[in-house]
Amino acid sequence: MPAVDLKSQLTNLVKLQAVDSEIYSLRNEKEVKPQEIKTLEAAYEAKKQGLAELEEKLLDLQKQRTDFELELASKEEATKKLQSQLFSLKTNKEYSTMLQQIQGSKADASVIEDKILQTFEQADKIKNETEQEKLKLEEEEKVFLGQKKIVDDRMKEIDDRLAQLDAQRKQVIPGIDHKILSQYERILSNRDGLAIVTVKDDSCKGCNMLVPPQVINLIKMYERIITCEICNRILYVEE
Ligand SMILES: [Zn+2]
Repeated sequence: MPAVDLKSQLTNLVKLQAVDSEIYSLRNEKEVKPQEIKTLEAAYEAKKQGLAELEEKLLDLQKQRTDFELELASKEEATKKLQSQLFSLKTNKEYSTMLQQIQGSKADASVIEDKILQTFEQADKIKNETEQEKLKLEEEEKVFLGQKKIVDDRMKEIDDRLAQLDAQRKQVIPGIDHKILSQYERILSNRDGLAIVTVKDDSCKGCNMLVPPQVINLIKMYERIITCEICNRILYVEE
């Protein structure tokens, strides 16, 4: 007679495995959640960046316009100065040279005025784009916060379920022999959260490899723990 009733030990291990399988898959799911939020956040931040670039362009244009306006004022000042000198000139030649300079100065001023007009037009265009971007971004923010909430809610759900499962685990564990439990847990952590598997249609449901009939007989004798020769998981037979 074995020291422990192996059949009921295996039954308890199967119960524990059901709890652990769920814990394992929930932990896996939980592990990728922070990255999901980061990805959503990065996409949203990238869209915000587009708006920031537009706002920067607008500031640049305003700065350019101020520069042009200063340039225009100094051109106008220069024209006035030339005009005031016009009547003090002695010769026709001096007079016509000065007139040419005045015309040149006025032409320069008109080019600058055109540039100023252009900055107004460009600024209007960018302002429109900015307004549209802002509206889009408000929508994007709603979408992002909605997606984030779904992930946050699921995280909370997972934590609540993990607490329940932990309590279930504590109920099953006292019914399992110390040595058997530590063997189970060793396999559990080495074999992707799956330590005990059934044999069905002569094959191991952990690795799907064939289990020889003599091994199946050994399992049914319940004298010792039998493991799969291929994947090392504990084997049991549903009866
Ligand atoms: Zn196997």
